[in-house]
Amino acid sequence: MENKIENVVIIGSGPAGLTAAIYAARANLTPLMIEGYETGGQLMTTTEVENYPGFAHGIQGPDLMAVIRQQAERFGTRFITKNVTKVDFSKRPFKIWVDKEEYQARTVIISTGATAKYIGLPNEMRMIGKGVSACATCDGAFFRNVPVAVVGGGDTAMEEANFLTRFASKVYIIHRRDEFRASKIMADRILSNPKVEVIWDSAVTDILGENLVNGLKLKNLKTNDTRTLEVEGLFVAIGHKPNTDLFKGMLEMNDVGYLVTKPRSTYTSIDGVFAAGDVADPIYRQAITAAGTGCMAAIDAERWLENHGH
Ligand code: NAP
Repeated sequence: MENKIENVVIIGSGPAGLTAAIYAARANLTPLMIEGYETGGQLMTTTEVENYPGFAHGIQGPDLMAVIRQQAERFGTRFITKNVTKVDFSKRPFKIWVDKEEYQARTVIISTGATAKYIGLPNEMRMIGKGVSACATCDGAFFRNVPVAVVGGGDTAMEEANFLTRFASKVYIIHRRDEFRASKIMADRILSNPKVEVIWDSAVTDILGENLVNGLKLKNLKTNDTRTLEVEGLFVAIGHKPNTDLFKGMLEMNDVGYLVTKPRSTYTSIDGVFAAGDVADPIYRQAITAAGTGCMAAIDAERWLENHGH
């Protein structure tokens, strides 16, 4: 039997993909979402979300994703809870494989997100949501009047540290070298902030605390000296990796792998393939901006289909 050609296949099920699904489904495009084994994206590892509009008293990240998914399902989105294993966008219809299963699509919306990089310490994953975070905008407000640490020396670390000074009593930046990678203007702003202390040439070697972080073990990489630093939060800001390995060599990406979209649109370098959310956004990386670009991608796909006679 000839494979059915889908109007829209959405790859990835974070806020971007699910919002695209809601809009595409309400436009009667009966989208097919391949949501992955790990559904819901980065919010699934967040606890309280206080900055997503519409929830005056906050909502747990997994609960938010569950209601957005229900909303997408209500209008007829179909879900496949598996990972895409291969794609071919070189000719139409586009082809998408889930293991041996092949799907064909007129348009594709890529919303595979990005993954925060972690240091790789044994305790790190266990302590996520218990003092370890990779997002100050999400979790900073839970650290009022207590000392916290940020690891990293790039623009993200500067931005996270700067944001955290609004809440924390003190912000330590732990960097593995003796100079920042961050842009000078952001580094200078941090270095002149009296609430910030930089611990140079150092690595975190352990996270202390049973159920909540109460300190870090640090090692000076030049002298090998070790010390304990009393903090209640550890913000890991050592970069994100966009989940774009599937699309290498096919779609235009920047030097670290974020998909490039045409300005003020979700069009990628292949006509009919759209990108939404963190996979194409190294700057804002918020659930609400992801949802916004997901909406844009669905509208772009809908207009594309209409302009191509579908
Ligand atoms: P980044 O520029 O790659 O910096 C990562 C930082 O983490 C570096 O200082 C690096 O140290 C450190 N690091 C990496 N792996 C580590 C490890 N395993 N242990 C300890 N430290 C580690 O990443 P980013 O700061 O997320 O920025 C990504 C991009 O977004 C950049 O182009 C940045 O300019 C941009 N950005 C811009 C803004 C803005 O303009 N407002 C805000 C955020 C991000 P080394 O320096 O020793 O390599």
